[in-house]
Amino acid sequence: MIERNAQVVVIGGGPAGLAAAVAADRAGADSVLLIDANVDPGGQIWRGETRRRPDQRNATAGDTLADFGTSAVLHLGESRVVAAPAPGELLVETAEDVLVVRYGSLVIATGARERFVPFPGWTRPNVMGVGGLQAMVKGGLPIEGKRVALAGSGPLLLAVADSLQAHGARIVLVAEQAPSHKVARFGMGMLMDPGKLGQGLGYAWRLRRVPYRRGWWPARADGRHRSRGDASDAPVSRAVLTNGRGQEIIVACDYLACGFHITPSLELVELLGCATEYDTYQGQRTTVVDGMQQTSVAGIYGAGECIGVGGLECALIEGRIAGLAAAGHPAEAAPLLAERDRERNRAQALNAAFSLRPELRRLADPETVVCRCEDIPLSRLVDLSSWREAKLHTRCGMGACQGRVCGGAVEFLFDWEPRSTRPPLFPARVGTLAAPRD
Ligand SMILES: Cc1cc2nc3c(=O)[nH]c(=O)nc-3n(C[C@H](O)[C@H](O)[C@H](O)COP(=O)(O)OP(=O)(O)OC[C@H]3O[C@@H](n4cnc5c(N)ncnc54)[C@H](O)[C@@H]3O)c2cc1C
Repeated sequence: MIERNAQVVVIGGGPAGLAAAVAADRAGADSVLLIDANVDPGGQIWRGETRRRPDQRNATAGDTLADFGTSAVLHLGESRVVAAPAPGELLVETAEDVLVVRYGSLVIATGARERFVPFPGWTRPNVMGVGGLQAMVKGGLPIEGKRVALAGSGPLLLAVADSLQAHGARIVLVAEQAPSHKVARFGMGMLMDPGKLGQGLGYAWRLRRVPYRRGWWPARADGRHRSRGDASDAPVSRAVLTNGRGQEIIVACDYLACGFHITPSLELVELLGCATEYDTYQGQRTTVVDGMQQTSVAGIYGAGECIGVGGLECALIEGRIAGLAAAGHPAEAAPLLAERDRERNRAQALNAAFSLRPELRRLADPETVVCRCEDIPLSRLVDLSSWREAKLHTRCGMGACQGRVCGGAVEFLFDWEPRSTRPPLFPARVGTLAAPRD
């Protein structure tokens, strides 16, 4: 087993983690180590960015990645923190090795993942999360000429529609579950924010031929095999949308991409004993941090979407504050606090505008699968009263994804708290867990 020590260790190579690592390095930390599950730095939003020519890069991505590239930060890619065997120690699995990493202070920047809301047909092939489809297209999935419908909530639907269209997809519909008046109020708020307004107007112009329906959401996804008819494993062929007043829109599509917000990845936070709380604006659990991004555990900081979903700019500024504080220079972070608070207020306005309507809790029928790994339908969960009971009685959340998909769904459907993080955080090699220690 390899051992490695660093004054500041950052987990997560997305915008928040990169900003934290560079800030800690520039503040003079003796050694900074950034550990990330992906091969290249960039996280969700800048996936594949390092492989683009510098002149084709998004400007913020280009600057952040250039700063990271010229820093003294040691980057450990394709490596996952799977356990925390002792205070100040992490067990990390790489493609070939096992490492014990010891830190003076730690920044957790593990990001967020998509939240899924089950509805009949959501497990059909080609019904996916918006972020999942976007990531697959960035990774080379051919989408040219394919008909894509998007449904769910929030500006991410438009961002993904725009990016899929740029890759040649035919966007047939964007269905936003929030009512028109809330979306309009949010739009008015953007008038005060020239950057976001420009972004919004850009989407509006490029997607001007795409129907954008507010107050509509998916009722079901139908599919047909050419030879075997409408078996449950037939790929989606049409999306059926409802407005809750008995009306339907039926749209033929090759892909139905759904996005019901994203949800903080809290596994490492919880494993390390950092406090979390239910955030009413976000409608989900987030990490408790103080003004300097420090969690409830001294020396452990949180930044970016794992402490609450706030968007790219918020992740970057929180990362810088956390990096400075973790390197022992909190005073240098003071000028950044007002900007961070402005970003958080913006995120709260967005969350209020696009909060999920209660009708979405009633989309699934008794046969609708909620836990895809263990094939558990809604009917087996409705009479249970907690996540623990669901695990014990049905194995819901105990399959390969360990509740990463159904956890957010049951939290929304039943108000359960899916919190029982145990090592390993990710499926790990037996050799990793059994590796001898000196
Ligand atoms: C699926 C998805 C799609 C999105 N698409 C867009 C978009 O199109 N436009 C937009 O503006 N915003 C988008 N967002 C939001 C955007 O990604 C965030 O605002 C921003 O990336 C947050 O940065 P972050 O550093 O907090 O997290 P992330 O960018 O998510 O980075 C977290 C990193 O931590 C790593 N990690 C997690 N756990 C471990 C572990 N145990 N060990 C090692 N590494 C770990 C992950 O692999 C990841 O690289 C999307 C978010 C998601 C979840």
